[in-house]
Amino acid sequence: MFNLFKLFVIVIIGSAASWAEDDQGILSFDRSVSFTENFEPVIPRLQQDQAVAEKLALLHARTGRRPNILWLVVDDMGYGDPGCYGGGTLAGASTPHIDRLAAGGLKLTSCYAQQTCTPTRSAILTGRLPVRTGLTRPILAGDKITINPWTDEVSLPKLLSDAGYFTLLTGKWHVGESEGMRPHDVGFDEYYGYYPAQKEISQRVDVRRFPGLVLNPERLAAFEAVGPADHLTHGFKGGETKELQQIRSIEDMGKADQVLADFTVKRLQELASGDKPFFVEHCFMKVHCDNFAHPDYAGKSEAKYPYKDAVHEVDVHVGSFLKALDDSGVLENTLVFFTSDNGPQMDGWPDAGYTPFRGAKGTTWEGGVRVPGIAYWKGMISPNRTSDGLFDLMDLFGVALNLAGVSSDKLPADKYYDFIDQTSFLLADGGQSKREAVYFWWGTELMACRMKEYKVHVKIVMAEAPHMHIDLATVRDVGLAPWFFNLYLDPKEEMTVGHRLDPWMATVSGKLKAHGATFKRYPPKNIGL
Ligand code: CA
Repeated sequence: MFNLFKLFVIVIIGSAASWAEDDQGILSFDRSVSFTENFEPVIPRLQQDQAVAEKLALLHARTGRRPNILWLVVDDMGYGDPGCYGGGTLAGASTPHIDRLAAGGLKLTSCYAQQTCTPTRSAILTGRLPVRTGLTRPILAGDKITINPWTDEVSLPKLLSDAGYFTLLTGKWHVGESEGMRPHDVGFDEYYGYYPAQKEISQRVDVRRFPGLVLNPERLAAFEAVGPADHLTHGFKGGETKELQQIRSIEDMGKADQVLADFTVKRLQELASGDKPFFVEHCFMKVHCDNFAHPDYAGKSEAKYPYKDAVHEVDVHVGSFLKALDDSGVLENTLVFFTSDNGPQMDGWPDAGYTPFRGAKGTTWEGGVRVPGIAYWKGMISPNRTSDGLFDLMDLFGVALNLAGVSSDKLPADKYYDFIDQTSFLLADGGQSKREAVYFWWGTELMACRMKEYKVHVKIVMAEAPHMHIDLATVRDVGLAPWFFNLYLDPKEEMTVGHRLDPWMATVSGKLKAHGATFKRYPPKNIGL
């Protein structure tokens, strides 16, 4: 009832000529409106939406086809690794191509992932939080999943394929490697990559780090029985799945990203001249530990450490993809989004990235979940934009549906959707975010919520030894009051502003409770993870 009233007020005010979208904040601290019960409430930006719809219509009239979408997802890259996010040369690996991408488009400073790989990768393809789909943590060797979570999910590649797109995933998948859960089983037309993370593959052949496994035939055989796939795989929807080269050495592992990048470059060139728009998700194997340098990139970073050489290599490939789009004449009809699937894995240091924030991968501190997010689209996104507006990587799902012209009524009404269509935020000159809150989960635990510059924690992940955020960490309840931080005053979440010092904690805590309540109406799925 309250929301309906609020919607009424906003519509009335919104129709006045003098209405400025910035002024919505005066209505209440929480500006979001629930338009449909099973969708995340949004901050209405009517003029912004309209302006961008017109901009897209003009582009469509010029090109005669829907825009292409290219996602570049790095594994475990820290917020502070790219130069444009404060790292680069300072952190021992300059990133000129990534920096150029940011300078040519929109750099997001409050872009959020889930705190580990599988949750992020599944969330961006389903538009739903991992706790809803059951994909709450990385699927590891030996895991027995009780039901295939994809069976009743409507995946983004399926929706885009149905809308006339060609859909390809290159690289790391990590959302299930058994039949029925592979990329080409869940909607992608084509898949070319490795199912697991680098370390899961290389541990079988890395005698220096895992001698107890590699040098013990009996243990190795037992491991192989449940071990993750180690072949490059090429699969087609409804067609063949071919196993190509096996990773037989750490040298092979070091070369994997070059093989994948060459493939994506070739496919981008082919798809650009094809008769369909395309959606390509390129998922790097690097910079997840353990990083082994490709001989062409060894020692090429300023730091000359394997991790830093891996950052350098990723940057080179980003440059190659942009060049391929440009040379093929589709740069002006392709949205490129660059990001990382979670914060740096500090447990693996020094084979780990850099974040200026507290915590790291595996935690719901900013260090675990705040990631680089760059939207680039020549001619459609103005250069040199930076925004601190909230963006959850799940919002990429909504942006892709918008660009492909897929209506949200294609999505089932009995499921709750957490994404927000942020197309107008990304594309409008001075565009503002339509997201009022980001929710942070750790497995099936609801941990925290960010609204504006505030973040409230009701549970926390505490490293029990310095930088051990996964392998020596515990999840704890907070005490009498939630831990409440003002991220503008204290980006590192070290000094709580406390419930007595700030008037907004009750509002942010209330938002968290309202979010929790959505699970009563739309129960989460348990897949046995
Ligand atoms: Ca990851």
